[in-house]
Amino acid sequence: MFSEAEINLMRQALKNRREYCVKQFKQRAAEYDAQLKQSQSQLKQVSATSGDSERHNLHCNIQNLRAQKGNAELIAQKAIPIAYDNKQAKLELLEKWPDQYQRIRAELADGSYRKRRWGDVQDIGFREIEPGQEKDIKSGQKAVEQMKKLGMMPREVENQAIVDYVTDLAEKVAAHSDLHIPLHVTVLNSKEVNAFALPGGYLFIERGLLDAADDESEVAGVIAHEIAHDVARHAHKLMKKATIAEIFYTGAEVAAMILTGGAAGIGTYYALQYGFSGLGLMLDLKLLGVSREYELEADTLGIQYAWNAGYDPSGFVRFFDKMATREGYVVGIGWFHDHPPFYDRMVNAEREIMFLPKKPQLAVQSSAFEQMKKELAGVKQKADQEQKDKPSLLMPEKGCPAPQAAEYKPGMQIDSICAAPDGQPAPAPPSKQKTKSGIRPEGQSFVQYTR
Ligand SMILES: [Zn+2]
Repeated sequence: MFSEAEINLMRQALKNRREYCVKQFKQRAAEYDAQLKQSQSQLKQVSATSGDSERHNLHCNIQNLRAQKGNAELIAQKAIPIAYDNKQAKLELLEKWPDQYQRIRAELADGSYRKRRWGDVQDIGFREIEPGQEKDIKSGQKAVEQMKKLGMMPREVENQAIVDYVTDLAEKVAAHSDLHIPLHVTVLNSKEVNAFALPGGYLFIERGLLDAADDESEVAGVIAHEIAHDVARHAHKLMKKATIAEIFYTGAEVAAMILTGGAAGIGTYYALQYGFSGLGLMLDLKLLGVSREYELEADTLGIQYAWNAGYDPSGFVRFFDKMATREGYVVGIGWFHDHPPFYDRMVNAEREIMFLPKKPQLAVQSSAFEQMKKELAGVKQKADQEQKDKPSLLMPEKGCPAPQAAEYKPGMQIDSICAAPDGQPAPAPPSKQKTKSGIRPEGQSFVQYTR
């Protein structure tokens, strides 16, 4: 356990780092902007007289500066704040978990945990979470049609081995859940780290999610969470509120970009085309539409379903934490943006895991998963190549040298793109303290503050 003083110190350090980091990238964006204006005025001066190769070089230069400026803005306005919010949430966890842990232990000791909502986990599949699942099939079909018509649906992965793997896994989880309607599984060829369920058993897994997952229990956990949304009929309940429907339809174009994941990602696109306020607003509206209460419900049920299907239920938490930590994925818009890692969700998830009856040999990895990853590498390479050859709003000039070394790559820690003001790495709690906080030491759990 950490003293209040230690926690406060870390909190202050995080705040300072965040401000410093944002300021650096704002400055960088301003520098790119100045260079951009200079290049554009140069182009104007020489436009009438310049030859093809000079023009090409100037076009390339402007294009790259635009991309770099957009990138720097994206990092300053979205990636850094989100990354530091996540760190803040972990700090909150460190602070409050010891008490929570004691409470969970007490509930385990006196047996009261059995009376928790949906505590009847031995009866999964035979209990009623929410009546009327079958009524959602029609609206799900409609939503799928609509999305296809609006061009909002990315194309599907054609590799049959991958499709079979995901379908088998999802059906296995569904068969151990409270879902009573047929499941339709679609694997989308998009680099977004995303999965979503439309009402009525329509489950969509995007390629980027498979790519980001390190083992089968992680994928199973996300699938179980999405199935739980359908079991509890969350979309149906949300759609009853007119405002949500309005957001959905006025946001159709934005949603199309989010789902299909443009060349450089939605964020950069908006940074370049419209500035940032538009995207921020849209995302905030989108987040409002995602009820925190429903997320907690889907977490609880999803953890139960993954466990019931024989998977290590902490795979879900591991994936969740990984997405929260990898700055590159924070920039990508997908599952993670719809599922912000609030402190209470982590505690809720860990709690449910502790309450589940112990099972021997819960699966984490499988050879089928590893085989799928091999297939995926080929699909990814092909898609990346096709993406490169595609005409793009962002990169209209072809044959340019690649922009200067990217400032970040997916998977990088936010600390590595912003040198700390004092040159010190982010404050890390001493590792020997970890197990004392009560989180399973072997679990590589979310309590790891710096990773
Ligand atoms: Zn969710």
